[in-house]
Amino acid sequence: MWGGPPWGGGGWGGPPPPPRGPPPRGGGGGGGALTTDQGERIDCQFVGLTAGVRPNLSAVQGSDIRTREGILVDEQLRTNIADVYAIGDCAEIERADGSVLLEQVWYTGKAQGELVAGNVLGGDATYTPGIWFNSAKFLDIEYQTYGEVLNAADTEHTHLYWEREDGRASLRLVHQRGTFVGVNIMGMRLRHRVCEAWLREGRSIEHVLAHLHEAAFDPELSRDPIPTIRASLSEARA
Ligand SMILES: Cc1cc2nc3c(=O)[nH]c(=O)nc-3n(C[C@H](O)[C@H](O)[C@H](O)COP(=O)(O)OP(=O)(O)OC[C@H]3O[C@@H](n4cnc5c(N)ncnc54)[C@H](O)[C@@H]3O)c2cc1C
Repeated sequence: MWGGPPWGGGGWGGPPPPPRGPPPRGGGGGGGALTTDQGERIDCQFVGLTAGVRPNLSAVQGSDIRTREGILVDEQLRTNIADVYAIGDCAEIERADGSVLLEQVWYTGKAQGELVAGNVLGGDATYTPGIWFNSAKFLDIEYQTYGEVLNAADTEHTHLYWEREDGRASLRLVHQRGTFVGVNIMGMRLRHRVCEAWLREGRSIEHVLAHLHEAAFDPELSRDPIPTIRASLSEARA
């Protein structure tokens, strides 16, 4: 389900980009700068390419199934044709409140699959996106995020940040006036079930710090015992 130009824009119906050569090299053999489709040069140490994701509608082209950016479905993931459903990257969910969901991450596709299976068997469940979660691997570094993690703290949100000495693992807990609202983890993993419950139940940041070990996914493989993290973050909180 690939889509879009690898860099610089100019695809998807926009004006053609100005002619340009290959990206300038950085001297060490890697990327050193890039030029946007507006002609702006941005110097950098490396260039990361993101291909993006967009629905592949080839399977339904020429049919009576309604599409827009994706295959249009209602909140029970039904298309306009009886007994035909769409889930995952290709589904564009029209919600009763008028909002539209195009969710292109694996766990929402999985949740949608489970919902459709239940409905096909006689259920009438409605899809709700639930608490935000994503996991990925950046080269060899694990990454997970749960809930709401803004780029930086603001007057409402406080960040508690721990980083391993070698810089290859970190944990960022975010609370809103004492209530835990999100976490980012790199180089380690936390249990989905536990983090989601903390968020759903509106747990305090003190509760999360005290129960951090319950979310530890791979403590036996980690060089960072949870007590070290907890002590460091509790000190920052004090
Ligand atoms: C580079 C990249 C990185 C990603 N990283 C992450 C990540 O870190 N975390 C995360 O949560 N998600 C990530 N995603 C998104 C995740 O992979 C997708 O959300 C997930 O795979 C969607 O599952 P799906 O079953 O809906 O679609 P797909 O996994 O794309 O499966 C659709 C299948 O249908 C087949 N198909 C398409 N058209 C036809 C046709 N006409 N006839 C027969 N078969 C057809 C395709 O070949 C494909 O096998 C990433 C995606 C990409 C591209």
